Amino acid sequence: MSLVDRALLGPGPCNPYPEATTALAAPILGHLDPAFLRLLDETCERLRTVWGTGNRRTLPLSGTGSIGMEAAFANFVRPGDPVVVAVNGLFGQRMTDVAARYGANVIAVEHEWGQPVDPERVLDAHPSPRIIAAVHAETSTGVESDIGALGRGIAARFPETLLLADCVTSLAGIDVRADDWGIDIGYSGTQKCVGVAPGLAPFTVSEKAWAARVEQPPTWYLDLGMIGSYVDGQSGGRTYHHTAPVAMIASLHAGLGRVLEEGLDAVQARHAEAGAYLQDGLEAIGLELFAAKGSRLPELTTVRVPEGVDSAQVRGRLLEEYGIEIGAGAGAYASTVWRIGLMGHNARIARAELVLGALRRLLGR
Ligand code: PLP
Repeated sequence: MSLVDRALLGPGPCNPYPEATTALAAPILGHLDPAFLRLLDETCERLRTVWGTGNRRTLPLSGTGSIGMEAAFANFVRPGDPVVVAVNGLFGQRMTDVAARYGANVIAVEHEWGQPVDPERVLDAHPSPRIIAAVHAETSTGVESDIGALGRGIAARFPETLLLADCVTSLAGIDVRADDWGIDIGYSGTQKCVGVAPGLAPFTVSEKAWAARVEQPPTWYLDLGMIGSYVDGQSGGRTYHHTAPVAMIASLHAGLGRVLEEGLDAVQARHAEAGAYLQDGLEAIGLELFAAKGSRLPELTTVRVPEGVDSAQVRGRLLEEYGIEIGAGAGAYASTVWRIGLMGHNARIARAELVLGALRRLLGR
């Protein structure tokens, strides 16, 4: 199978919407061209809609989701700040590493992998945290955590504390309500449910967080004070900070346009339907789901590799024979769990059916 066949047959975990791919091939505008700046403003406006926020500082950072994580800690952590991080998988773990590199006094609240974050334990972890951080959709385990409950707890107990949420695998695929939930610092990626190629990190900052940011963070490229003036058309006068990745922003603009045209609710319903179909189908052929019932993400399904089955061999055959890419498990679950993404354009029953049919044949079920 050629690589083009493979890419078009899918499902890879996150095939982009066709509109987003087409936009990548369009003629490239200059990064200061007024037409591009209009497109950038419109992209930020579209991002506000999917984030569920009125935050003025909502923008795509230049880099993948990890740039969002880095910027989130770099701009809001001062050395010695108590930062509580809920850890229930690989990306929570990564947050503790990033926060520590910016000098945070990290208080990691460990959870069993496959379980959602326990808001009460996290809220009880420190008497006055500067930041409470959690992953909304843990891609390593397929688990959704209740960010709204953390936000309500912070509002009731810690008026100064900032809520930092990783929404890389949730944005546009499941409900994300930055303002209603009290998210002060949120970041995402483009290659998951947003349905665009990897390369940008949709980012949002509340007024409360902005007022409390580090004046001069120890990073030049990710200093939001500088980047914000570049992308924020409302501040009057843009100053050059770095060359915007115009093709990627045009692609994000197109992908978000597709999502909003279909309707955010409809897109999320499509994710919910496809995920439920896949998960029911996997159980129907006798496979055991890994993520805790009641907290399963529709866009990322984790399933235990059956006893005696060679995980890597099945993944290899899915890719070679069907063009289907599924992930190995993360961390200690590398060879005992599979991760199946149905995100963005792929979040459809037809795609779920393809995965199920292929697995049925390869596993002889
Ligand atoms: N956070 C979560 C929950 C993720 O799933 C990922 C990537 O899969 C990241 C952060 C890092 O994003 P990226 O790989 O785009 O840098």
